[in-house]
Amino acid sequence: MKFAIVSKGDARSEQIKGTMTQYLTDFELEYNANEPDLVISVGGDGTFLEAFHTYVHRLGSTAFIGVHTGHLGFYADWVPDEVEKLIIEIAKTPFQVVEYPLLEVIIRAKSGGSEDRFLALNEATIKTADGSVVFDVEIKGEHFETFRGDGLCVSTPSGSTAYNKALGGGIIHPSLDAIQLTEMASINNRVFRTIGSPLILPKHHTCLLKPIVDRSFLIAIDHFTTNYTNVKSIQCRVAEERIRFARFRQFPFWNRVRDSFVADDNH
Ligand code: NAD
Repeated sequence: MKFAIVSKGDARSEQIKGTMTQYLTDFELEYNANEPDLVISVGGDGTFLEAFHTYVHRLGSTAFIGVHTGHLGFYADWVPDEVEKLIIEIAKTPFQVVEYPLLEVIIRAKSGGSEDRFLALNEATIKTADGSVVFDVEIKGEHFETFRGDGLCVSTPSGSTAYNKALGGGIIHPSLDAIQLTEMASINNRVFRTIGSPLILPKHHTCLLKPIVDRSFLIAIDHFTTNYTNVKSIQCRVAEERIRFARFRQFPFWNRVRDSFVADDNH
């Protein structure tokens, strides 16, 4: 089996990366950064997002696992003390795989016909540095509302505990193929009206955001933000692709939610 390690780059993460590389190589696994079967992220959730985007072109043949060197992460859920146990588990391959849904985002340009396609593990957010964002929001080809406000967040189920949660969105179990649309400070008065509640869309229910006022938009896909002008539409839906996690032990999603947000003593 071929593996690669993406490290946060700090001393602790680099040290763990070195230990894991050495032991896994001793077990006759091959370090291969180009075509890994398993990608190990060492750092935090940000490092895991980086690892995901580095290998997003080979999701069908790469599984991911995260070791955290800071506080408990949602994706980085192995602690440094467990690394030796993890190495032995990895060396014993084959491993079990658990799949989570992803968000597909297609940004189409007004002129020139170009489009950019992204996959997000957590979410896409659309904001502007230039007043309010104003969009027509279509769901499944039908006009739903005209949104005016600070922005919108469209998240995956596993991203529902990240930015989405801070916006008052619900936490969705990643076994559900869905995306969630949450508002950022929508303007609601006699002139402008939005639903005001997070919307959860199932697979095949595409959400299309069509700018009404010509603005430049700050579009973030997970941890990476790009400034877009000339935007005709932003299309969001559950992606056909999924992320594959290598599972070596049970750590149910609701336990991770509890340990991260409610209590960390397992009571
Ligand atoms: P960062 O360094 O600002 O860290 C953001 C925090 O979000 C970290 O504590 C991280 O552990 C946590 N996080 C990331 N993914 C998570 C998930 N799926 N569930 C629960 N917590 C999660 O930024 P970063 O490390 O580059 O991560 C980028 C992510 O930060 C974005 O995808 C977004 O979800 C999140 N973010 C959150 C807010 C907010 O909550 N107000 C604002 C901006 C970005």
